[in-house]
Amino acid sequence: MTERLDAFMARANAAYYATHDPFADFTTSPEISQVFGEILGLWAAVTWQLLGAPTPTLLVEAGPGRGTLMSDALRAIIQAMPAFRTALRVHFIETSPRLRQEQARRVPDAAWHDDLSSLPDGPTILLANEFLDALPIRQFVRRGTDWLERYVGPSGFEERPIDTVVPAPPATDGDTFERCDAALAFVRALAARFAQHPGAALFLDYGPEHSGLGDSLQALAGGKPADPLGPPGTADLTAHVDFAALAATARAAGASVHGPVPQGMFLAELGLFQRTNRLAQHLRPAEAAAVMEAARRLGEPNRMGRLFKALAIGSPQCPPLPALGG
Ligand code: SAH
Repeated sequence: MTERLDAFMARANAAYYATHDPFADFTTSPEISQVFGEILGLWAAVTWQLLGAPTPTLLVEAGPGRGTLMSDALRAIIQAMPAFRTALRVHFIETSPRLRQEQARRVPDAAWHDDLSSLPDGPTILLANEFLDALPIRQFVRRGTDWLERYVGPSGFEERPIDTVVPAPPATDGDTFERCDAALAFVRALAARFAQHPGAALFLDYGPEHSGLGDSLQALAGGKPADPLGPPGTADLTAHVDFAALAATARAAGASVHGPVPQGMFLAELGLFQRTNRLAQHLRPAEAAAVMEAARRLGEPNRMGRLFKALAIGSPQCPPLPALGG
């Protein structure tokens, strides 16, 4: 069988997330510090007020993993803005039955969906951490003056003529250009929702600020780099998120765009270090040191603070959103 790279990646990741505990292979911000989810909860609460405090509001998370982010967010929301807790309904977009079970243990009153299409209508705030990077990408390779597209066949990569326009920057022989149609479609669908009802979506993920050339497809198995074309389901496949392409697509679809800003600046402005200090005051010295170290890992530029970015899209008339440089 020969299939386009995005079809292969979709199949491989569906098999991987259905059969593995992904957190044995990699860790994510909400698993590093509870303060991450708390801060995203506070961001959602302030955003809800900026949207006019609509009741009810769907609080949606895409790709919620273990449910850690949402349970930390809800705890912070109850303390800081109980009215928002009363107004919100939790919806999860998750395809893995195995992870749905984990999520139900931490957030029992959620509703689950395979994708955006089955979400009820209404005002919506969506959070997504390391969701877009798991969506399937297409890769185009420059050969002479033409672009060819990567397919996966029995003996590895194959290249075939393209059936699409490749909006790539100037390239020379051998260059690679990536496009995540699934992420762009996700943003377009959100823009359409936000044109009907007040809404905003916050994405945190790994990727450069400007689109460019390069092959960022990577596979992790057992915490180590693996062959992306290994047997489907044995490794987690990800690619860098093209924030510039997402922002341009959102704008073209009529949404407002906020950011991107580096994750470290976003979290620091929302009180990452102050909240962590307060948390540390109630802990024994070794635990206090561990939570401080976790906050530095999320926020420091030479760690996750700069490579990860925060980008939001919102309703057309949405005011500037917290900590996104507006
Ligand atoms: N946000 C979590 C988990 C990140 S891992 C965290 O930060 O810890 C990626 C998550 O996206 C997993 O929950 C995975 O099952 C889910 N996922 C991957 N591809 C998906 C798809 N196409 N549709 C819905 N969920 C998907």
